[in-house]
This record gives sequence, C-alpha cells and structure tokens, in this order.
Amino acid sequence: MRARSSEDTLRELKSRGARRLKQVRFRANRSTIWSLTQDATVLNLHVAYRRAPASILDAFATIVRGRGWRTNAVRDASDRVRDWPGLGPVMDAVRKSHSQRRREALRRCSDDNEITHCCATPEQRRYLRALYRYLNRTRFDGLLPEVPVRLSNRMSASLGHVIPAVDRRRGRYVAELALNVDLMLEGNGAERMDTLVHEMAHIADWLFDGEYGHGTTWKKWARHAGCRAESKYDRPVVRRRRRTQRVTRVPPLPVALRRRAA
Ligand SMILES: [Zn+2]
Repeated sequence: MRARSSEDTLRELKSRGARRLKQVRFRANRSTIWSLTQDATVLNLHVAYRRAPASILDAFATIVRGRGWRTNAVRDASDRVRDWPGLGPVMDAVRKSHSQRRREALRRCSDDNEITHCCATPEQRRYLRALYRYLNRTRFDGLLPEVPVRLSNRMSASLGHVIPAVDRRRGRYVAELALNVDLMLEGNGAERMDTLVHEMAHIADWLFDGEYGHGTTWKKWARHAGCRAESKYDRPVVRRRRRTQRVTRVPPLPVALRRRAA
C-alpha cells in the first residue's frame, strides 16, 4: 500500500460522506492515534494511517460523520481503527525514534510535555492549576483528572477549548484545556470562571459520556456545575489592546481558597 498524502486522505474521507471535514493532519505521535479538533473539522491522524486500507478509511469517515460518539456505529469504528494491525509496528518505530528527544523535552517543559504554545507565566500556571482544582472539588465532586491547562494568545473569537483524544492504552483522555489569555485581564472575573467551568463540563462529558459538543450530556454536566448551558458566550469580554501585548496578570483566587492559604 502506497503512503497517502493529507490531501488524498481528505478527499477519500469526503467521498465517504465526511463533508464538514476541512483538513487531515498526520502526526508521528507516540500514543495518540487520532483526535478531532476545531469543532470536528480537523482530523489528526497517526502517520501509520497513511497506509490504511479502504476499510479503515470507511471507519474514520464514520467517526468524523458521527462527531460526538453518539452511535454504536461510531464506537465500533473507533475500535476497528484502534485494532488495525498496521498501527502497532509504526507506533513502536515512532516511540523508539522519540525516546531520546523525549528526555530533552521533559527537561525543557517541567509541567507537561503535551502543553504547546503556552504563554502563561509560572505564576499564572500555578493560579490556573489551583483554580482548576478548586472548581473540580466544588463543582464536579472532584471527579475530573488533572489535565494540562494552558493560556493561548492566538485565539481570537474563541475563549477556550478542550482537545479530546484517544490513546491506545489509556482510552479517552483530554490532551489539553486552553483558555484565551484575555480572560486573565482585569474585569473578566466572571467570564474566566464561566469559561473554565464550561470547558471542564466538556472534559466530564468526554470522559464519562464519550461525547464531545454541546449536546444533552454536555448540558447535563454544565447544569450540574452551575455554568450557563450555552455554547457561545455573548456577554462582552475585556480584550487586550494589541494581539502582541503580553498579559502577565495573575488574578486573585476565589475567597475560599485565599482563606485556606492564609
Ligand atoms: Zn463548548
């Protein structure tokens, strides 16, 4: 089987009914085999799938069409791509070639080597971690695992996102939770909390219900956690003046947490 390009793969998937898909990206990942990002319009695939047979492309088309794991068909398709025998050897080879670089990457990034393009200062990162833990305890009964939380200075309209992913061994997991750095600005306190809880509801929805999107199961988690069960944030948000402006502000933690620290 000849290796397929991203464009060829995109064309193949579109011809199988995955019409919303805009891009296919191949990644030499060590463990993630696929993930759907940017509102399910970008499919990130392990490089092994460059040589996937037609039956595996059928399965990916089913996954992309399904977007949110709503049907048994999508779950079956997900099992089929995971169990495809062509995956294992390529993944082992990638792991081997990564092993040296991994050590270096871990040394460079003390937090989590999956965080990329994070513009948070160490203080901001500590703040976000404390806030995440606090909200997990008070709004989600402590059910959520720790996930990499990063700040992005590249988001424009969007205030935050969660990247759901599937790992061959771990199963479903969350690759990252990212917040727009504008949310750290003074005057965005309510927006920051609401966006974080909104994104954490996506984490619960993905990990416990296998769904991604703003469907009924996400709404259930959003209501449980007490955030607005709406997909878009329509209240005004304070924005930085220029996109290049660096934001280093660390907002005050919730009063309950400050008392604990005192
Ligand atoms: Zn959302």
